[in-house]
Order: sequence, then C-alpha cells, then structure tokens
Amino acid sequence: MTHIFHRTPRVPLQTAVRGEGCYLFDADGRRYFDGSGGAAVSCLGHGHPEVVAAVAAQVQRLAYAHTSFFTSEPAEQLADLLAGRSPAGLAHAYFVSSGSEAVETALKMARQYHVERGEAGRRHVVSRRQSYHGNTLGALAIGGNAGRRALYEPLLAEAHHVSPCFARHGRQAGESDAQYAERLADELEQKILALGPRTVSAFVAETVVGATAGAVAPVPGYFPRIRAVCERHGVLLILDEVMSGMGRTGTYHAFEQEGVVPDLLCLAKGLGGGYQPIGAVLAAARVVDAIVGGSGAFQHGHTYVGHPVACAAALAVQTVVERDGLVARVAELGRGLDARLRSRFGDHPHVGDIRGRGLFQAIELVRERDTGEPFDPALQVHARVKRAAQERGLLCYPAGGTIDGRRGDHVLLAPPYIASVGQLDEAVERLGEALDAVVRGLPALE
Ligand code: PLP
Repeated sequence: MTHIFHRTPRVPLQTAVRGEGCYLFDADGRRYFDGSGGAAVSCLGHGHPEVVAAVAAQVQRLAYAHTSFFTSEPAEQLADLLAGRSPAGLAHAYFVSSGSEAVETALKMARQYHVERGEAGRRHVVSRRQSYHGNTLGALAIGGNAGRRALYEPLLAEAHHVSPCFARHGRQAGESDAQYAERLADELEQKILALGPRTVSAFVAETVVGATAGAVAPVPGYFPRIRAVCERHGVLLILDEVMSGMGRTGTYHAFEQEGVVPDLLCLAKGLGGGYQPIGAVLAAARVVDAIVGGSGAFQHGHTYVGHPVACAAALAVQTVVERDGLVARVAELGRGLDARLRSRFGDHPHVGDIRGRGLFQAIELVRERDTGEPFDPALQVHARVKRAAQERGLLCYPAGGTIDGRRGDHVLLAPPYIASVGQLDEAVERLGEALDAVVRGLPALE
C-alpha cells in the first residue's frame, strides 16, 4: 500500500501526470477525455496558458496575505467581476476554498443576518432530501444523501428535509407541472409552520441537482413558488450552485432560468475551473447591510479566505469564459449533446432517462426501461460504467445508491466548455460502448 490515504485505498489508481485541453494523461501515457471535468470542475479544460500565467504571476507577486490585515487586488477584481455579472442585489462576494465551505458560510451568514435584525429565534434550516451540499458536518447535515450521511448521523446537527423536485419520480399521476410545484411549495410552507413562526433561518436547494440525482432540473414554476413561501415567512433562500453554476447549465447562473434571485448563492467548482481550490458566497445587499450596519463584523473566517492566488486563478478563468463567449457556447453545445445522447440512448433497454441542461447532462441507468425498475444496488452498475468508460479513455461521473428511499444509478457528463462537437460525439460513443460492455458482463437479468 502507498503512504497516501486516498478514498479507496484497496483500489489502485492510475497516476495523472499531465493535462492538456480536454484531456488528462496518466503515467503510462494513456489519454482520457475529461467528460465530466472531474466532478464538473474543469470548465476551461487543462493547462490553459492564460490561467497558468496568471497563477504564476500572482504567486511571484503575492502568494498570501491574511485577510485580517489586507485585502488583495485579485480578490477585489474577482468580486467586482462577479457582482457585475449577477443580478442587481447579489453584489457582495465572500471567497472560501471549496463548495462545502461556501455552504457552511452561507448557513452562518443567514443566521447572523437574522440575529442582527433581532430575530435570534431563527435557527432551523430546511433543505431537500435529494441533495448534496458538501461533506463537512454542517453541509452534510443539511444534505440528503443517505449513503454519505449514514456513518456520521450521530454527529450531524438537526436539519429538516422536504421533498425534492424530481418530476420523473415524484410527480403524481395526472399532476401538471404547476400542480406538482404547488404541492411541493405547500409542503415547504407546512414544514415552516410546523417548526414554528420565526424559527426558520433558510431554505437551501441545488438549482439543478448534481451528485445525488444526476442533472435534475426543477419543473417550471417551482422556484418562484418556493421563493414566495420564503418571502412570506422571512426565510432566506440559499441556492447551491457549487456544481451547476458559473455557466455549466448554459446561463451564467443556473437560477437565471428559473425566474428567481436567491438571497445567498454558493459557488465553487467552475469558479476556478480546478486551477486553484476556490469557492464563494454571493450575498444580497440586504444580508450584508444587516451585518455591516449591525455588529459590523461577520463572525466567521478561515485562514485561506480570499486567497490571492486562488482569486487570481478564478479571475483569469472567468475573464476567458467571458471574452470567449463560452456560456453561450455551453448552451449551444448542450443542445447538441442532448440530441446526441437521445440518438444513442433514446431506445437503449437500460437507459431510463436522459436529462440535464447545457453541458450538465446525465443518463439514468435502469434494469428495465419500460418499467423504470432500477438495477440491484449491489451490482454498483454506475461504478462499473465509470470503470469501463475509463478503460476506453473517457472520464464520466457516476453516482448511485438510495436517495429519498429510491434506488438508482446514473452517470453524469460535464465536459469542459471548450470541447468540440467531435469530441462530445466521441464521448457519447465511448459511453455507449462502456454501458453495453457492462451490461454484457452482468449476472443474467432474468
Ligand atoms: N454543493 C454541491 C451541489 C456539490 O455538488 C458539492 C460537491 O460535489 C458541494 C456542495 C461540496 O463541494 P466541495 O466538494 O468543493 O466541498
């Protein structure tokens, strides 16, 4: 065994040694198309010369300055850039080092906002069962991924969950989009009322669900109704776009397709594109004003908040994304990818659903397409497909297990925004070959 303690020590891993464009290379010289950008991270691909140069220049100029003494130029410029591209109101950025930290930060900001306004009783957080918000204890507590939570249940803070918006599995027979959205909003309102007036601080949701369900977008009208419930009860709306944000779904922020603006927005992965670890919370002016005009200090912080090199990397990534019109490109490539997936898997006997937005697409793997019956979870079909795809030079992001009491497997594609149509076509082909090979190797499906 090696000395490094990685997640699955008994499973040998290839050593990645180089990245270039949409490809990663291992120590044996094998090439992999990064069809999932790692975990929806590498939006600009690998080795982008402008980002590399910006990071190198910043390390030389100023690697680190603690934010209790200084701000820094890249942090200020990145905050300006983000505020300039976000709807009026989301004008303030707080920089952290990961998605989990962004979520923890948003939870604390929401709590402090209420306390500053004299509502110290607001302590509850409501979130959704089908969700993943990070692996630190606070983020894990509000998440709904049973598998990731199970071992740590005794350590998790109290959190309250309502149903996800997952039309394929949650909508009742005969229910329209509007009726389904109304029922879910009503469930949230009942939960808030049951917890007690003025005791709920925030409602947290992924705008488009990533890891736990595979690129699940809400039905139209869901978020406006949720927003209205939050408003009625003085509850802040926190949207987690750690995975689905920063252009991934074909708009700069995923919520732009929903007709709402959150009070707090969590970002990470595509913000720095993997060139540095960075996350952010974008906060509404009213939240920041309450704190600045109240006690005057946000009671939070980590050693590496606002790290200059991380901010310089994200600034360079975001500058290229804007200059090269990559968000519009994601929307266009996404339409092509969707069509390609439908043509390859539309009548595949083991693909139950094809879904997603932009370059954030998933296929749901099922034992039987007509009934939607899932595979036996013990078969770990998603993990087998991941391995088979990697053997064929394609990286894709698998997930499976039990979510909201429902078993399921899916595979997510989230390629770099710079991918070509030809590369995406090839990725779909490789995925198809991998899935077919896995199915052939399964115990007989009687
Ligand atoms: N929120 C969402 C929606 C995520 O998908 C993730 C990670 O996958 C996180 C939060 C946690 O981010 P990180 O792994 O950077 O801590």
